[in-house]
Amino acid sequence: MSLREGVDRMVDRATLAIGLDPDTAKVIQACNMVSQIKFPAKVRGKVEVFTGWWAIHSAHRLPAKGGLRFAPVINQEEIEGLAALMSYKCAIADIPFGGAKGGLLINPCNYKEDELRDITRRFAVELARKDFINPATNVPAPDLGTSAREMVWIADTYKALFPEDVNQDACVTGKPINRGGIAGRTEATGKGVQYALQEFFRHPEAVASAGLQDGLTTQRVVVQGLGKVGYHLAKFLVEDDNITVIAVIEHDGVVINDGGLNIHDVRQHMAETGGVKGFPGGSYSEDRDEALLMECDILIPAALESQIHAGNAMQIQAKLIVEAANGPVTYEADEILRNRGITILPDIYVNAGGVTVSYFEWTRNLSHMRFGRLQRRYDEIRGHGYLDTLEQLTGQRASDQQRKTLVRGASELDLVRSGLYDTMRMAFQDIREIIRENPNINDYRTAAFAIAITKIAQSYYDLGLVESSK
Ligand code: GLU
Repeated sequence: MSLREGVDRMVDRATLAIGLDPDTAKVIQACNMVSQIKFPAKVRGKVEVFTGWWAIHSAHRLPAKGGLRFAPVINQEEIEGLAALMSYKCAIADIPFGGAKGGLLINPCNYKEDELRDITRRFAVELARKDFINPATNVPAPDLGTSAREMVWIADTYKALFPEDVNQDACVTGKPINRGGIAGRTEATGKGVQYALQEFFRHPEAVASAGLQDGLTTQRVVVQGLGKVGYHLAKFLVEDDNITVIAVIEHDGVVINDGGLNIHDVRQHMAETGGVKGFPGGSYSEDRDEALLMECDILIPAALESQIHAGNAMQIQAKLIVEAANGPVTYEADEILRNRGITILPDIYVNAGGVTVSYFEWTRNLSHMRFGRLQRRYDEIRGHGYLDTLEQLTGQRASDQQRKTLVRGASELDLVRSGLYDTMRMAFQDIREIIRENPNINDYRTAAFAIAITKIAQSYYDLGLVESSK
């Protein structure tokens, strides 16, 4: 079963649970549009033909939003499935976007930076000409194999094509801060996963029903993938929540340390050697598949799709699976894990932090102003005023440190983090509520899909695209 079919089956399950009209569900499931683009680029004197896609799963809200991935193994079916996940993710996180996804079939490791830049620019021209890059309709973002670097190249290409577009900065998100990006976007997905876990652990009944001990600090965690998402989330969890990461699984094997790995050092080692092999702070094994089955409290797949499948789901020993990646658990595996009573926090909720902060970046670009610019100093002056009055009234003086903390106006990063935290908390509470209210729903994935499809169905009814049966 492909990722797209798997996602559709998950939607079917939620449709049944909430009694949504199956015809409406069909409309929601359908990918509105997908375009395949073939374009030539000259590399080292030779013409190569590249294949890329842009899929718009839903356009009930615009722009359609999603990552643009560069990968050696992708196909249209997968892109469509990932675009669908974006629609549901945006709905759960209450982001007024449709869902989209793009991809370029390429192994970025085979090209030098300037070659990759030329190829990316060529691809961007093709996409922009078809309106698949446009601040109002289609806004790509970093994904697997792309980062702020590719986003700058794309934005710059768009600007050259449409210099008169006053909102040109908003044509992609995930840009570097000095090129129209927003503070906190790079680590946003990881931060969102951390907030999701923190929120989960604020609900003792949820923790108990997953068979876990109370408190994040006691958890022993295995992380698969120390890339853009996995690295930040593992580092945040270790540094802020005192979690013990007992294993990091990477493309060349696994590194294990029961006492806890130093995430920064593992990443440093990877940057120097290309993998985790030989990392001095833990024991190494090349059996990465076996490592997924390790005994642990929480397993966080933060790499590719379909890592947990019908072939290994029976042997998974983690009590909680936190899907930091998109689609890391297949539909079949999801069924097996649910029957085994293993709790899963689904991707469409857990990894929504990236697109949430992309939404903040997009609105920042449209307003042409950094968040907090108008009120930061005002808040600080007001804070001094309050504190001075309080000191006069009580006859007591606040310490310099207390004054500093109390009067401080919010920076852009503070505001971004606060908006992200709020989004992740609210979404989890919505998910918990539907589980409480609907006796047909007792897992987080079905609950998350139920919320998403209810919201999307409502917009379709409002727009008159589908008739409500009620
Ligand atoms: N690629 C990320 C995702 O899959 C972010 C998408 C975005 O920011 O638009 O959620």
